[in-house]
Amino acid sequence: MSKYIFVTGGVVSSVGKGITVASIGTILKSRQISVTAQKLDPYLNVDPGTMSPYQHGEVFVTQDGAETDLDLGNYERFIDVNLTTESSVTSGQIYSEVIAKERRGDFLGGTIQVVPHVTSEIKDRFKRLAEKSKADVVIIEVGGTVGDIEGLPFLEAARQMRNEVGRDNILYVHVTLLPYLNSTKELKTKPTQHSVNELRRIGIQPDIIACRSDYPISEEIRNKISLFCDVERKAVIPLTTVSTIYEVPLVLEEEGLGQLIVDKMKLKPRPPDLSQWQELVNLIKTPREPVKIALVGKYVELQDAYFSVREALQHAILHHGRDLELIWVPSETLENSGDVSVLRSVQGIIVPGGFGIRGIEGMVRAATYARENKIPYLGLCLGMHVMVIEFSRYALGSNEANSTEFNADTRYPVIDFLPDQKGQKIKGGTMRLGNYPCELVNGSRAAQAYGQSPIYERHRHRYEFNNEYRQRLEKAGMVYSGLSPDGRLVEVCEIADHPWMLASQFHPEFTSRPGHPNPLFRDFIGAAKNVLREGAQPPLPLSSNL
Ligand code: GLN
Repeated sequence: MSKYIFVTGGVVSSVGKGITVASIGTILKSRQISVTAQKLDPYLNVDPGTMSPYQHGEVFVTQDGAETDLDLGNYERFIDVNLTTESSVTSGQIYSEVIAKERRGDFLGGTIQVVPHVTSEIKDRFKRLAEKSKADVVIIEVGGTVGDIEGLPFLEAARQMRNEVGRDNILYVHVTLLPYLNSTKELKTKPTQHSVNELRRIGIQPDIIACRSDYPISEEIRNKISLFCDVERKAVIPLTTVSTIYEVPLVLEEEGLGQLIVDKMKLKPRPPDLSQWQELVNLIKTPREPVKIALVGKYVELQDAYFSVREALQHAILHHGRDLELIWVPSETLENSGDVSVLRSVQGIIVPGGFGIRGIEGMVRAATYARENKIPYLGLCLGMHVMVIEFSRYALGSNEANSTEFNADTRYPVIDFLPDQKGQKIKGGTMRLGNYPCELVNGSRAAQAYGQSPIYERHRHRYEFNNEYRQRLEKAGMVYSGLSPDGRLVEVCEIADHPWMLASQFHPEFTSRPGHPNPLFRDFIGAAKNVLREGAQPPLPLSSNL
């Protein structure tokens, strides 16, 4: 039977609860304890797929096509598992399921209430994941902050689980923030005490309190939290800010969290082995020569919108023993006669996924710059559409080539709905989502990168390459290096006459892991690192008769 760890958050959001969950997973897995993770999101959207990235950051896609919170990406990268739709639960899903059951008459004329109907539905989700994954430990992150109205049913369900599975099989971890007051130069524990009180009011006494802080936490503070919040002194775990998120498992291990969890839950572990993480962190902290990459996108003001892209770049950079110098270029600034000189100093250009017309022309200009100046280019989903639009404008000799997403009446709809997709109007749940197989063409850069075929990568899009233009673009030098097994869908394309210009209809960033960079990111950086940086060109040989 699986055991459960519930992780709640106090004081403010964004204290790193997701990374704490992921790191707990890492330290348990390092003891050969099998783990999986689940995120409970209190909003009423059925999934975050319909939310703006400005509100919610990146939408992470699981292999089975669930559109989820970006925290799931961190769970996958830290625990090195492929999660499924069961790992993502929103209030919207729970309520719509309860209401659907009521409509079907499943409750036999009863009064439908938050307790027990909603809470039972939530507990079913915990148990379903436990059963399906057969993990020794299921780690569950309760989204939001304790005290939020929306989060109450989730907390109540977490409380009820204690009696169902027994005290040794459940653990409550509370992550809080210790704010620093500059005037008195001290960390304050009062907000933590209040949030623990709030938890207790709901009936949950935390077993462990992880305290986020930007400053070192003194023994005195730890003692105070232990006394006021009624947790053991060794269960007050300091979590001071570190320079890389990959260091968090090492910090938690050092503070004894792994052993504490093992003891409290009576787990039977192997000795921990975090040597690979230690190596990774050592590598990250070693000064290395940078590779300068421009990320040209629409949502660059909120870098969380490209969380997995940044991580995948980081994994690839580490593989090559280099450092990432990432510049974020708002694509709108490159539009019309906008200044593209910012691209002059970069060694690679990446155009990530996105929706809507804003900033598209700037991305197309970035692709033109990459093609004409032979700068490595990696396009991800929308980045493939942009590469195809750009190349078509050049090959067809018309600036009208476009995606019907941006111009429904374009003369050259090089990216379009497939004939059987036309007529779709609903925006929720109408995308090609999750893993699809892709056959790679021998000798292509994509085939070289992956070294195998077929490959499976994750999708999230509505529009596709329009096959009516296949031949014409091929003649002009476009290579279709990845196709669906029936040959109907272009999944990867490349520019033949270019050192490395490649784009995929899927999102390779979702499968990249520390230590195993995604092959496309790896080879993109491999090509970029060979581009001379501005100012790094060797001086001309000076001959004496000049
Ligand atoms: N907007 C494009 C589509 O819907 C691309 C989506 C994406 O980049 N994820 O097909």
